[in-house]
Amino acid sequence: MNDPFADNPERACLGIPDNIFFPDPGENALAAQAQQICHTCPIVDACREWAIYNHEQGIWGGTTDRDRETIRRDRQAEPLRSRQRRTHLTVVAARTQAGVYAKDIAAELGITARTVVRMRGELRKVA
Ligand code: SF4
Repeated sequence: MNDPFADNPERACLGIPDNIFFPDPGENALAAQAQQICHTCPIVDACREWAIYNHEQGIWGGTTDRDRETIRRDRQAEPLRSRQRRTHLTVVAARTQAGVYAKDIAAELGITARTVVRMRGELRKVA
């Protein structure tokens, strides 16, 4: 699946070589460097949720593969629908902030544009 944040001008990793975010096993210093960059990123939560949901490899949202595996395991008790919903809400928030159309967010997440619009309404209520 495509990285929905690749064209986000706010992401802290913009212009930084990809290899930092995809360290080989044992390249802990490189992984730590990537995680530091993520911790300054305004879309860190959405990025992490995306990677958890899509089983991405590498450093995403300040987490390693192992971190995300632990999070997925901890969330196993939650119904799948709740986990998906949390991911969708965080991605909808980040992509809306980046000015992406509802129909495009819907296509990225495999949901309807109507659902994206409804989620935007929910997010406005809690903001
Ligand atoms: S959280 Fe990290 S990997 Fe994700 S967009 Fe931001 S800097 Fe890039």
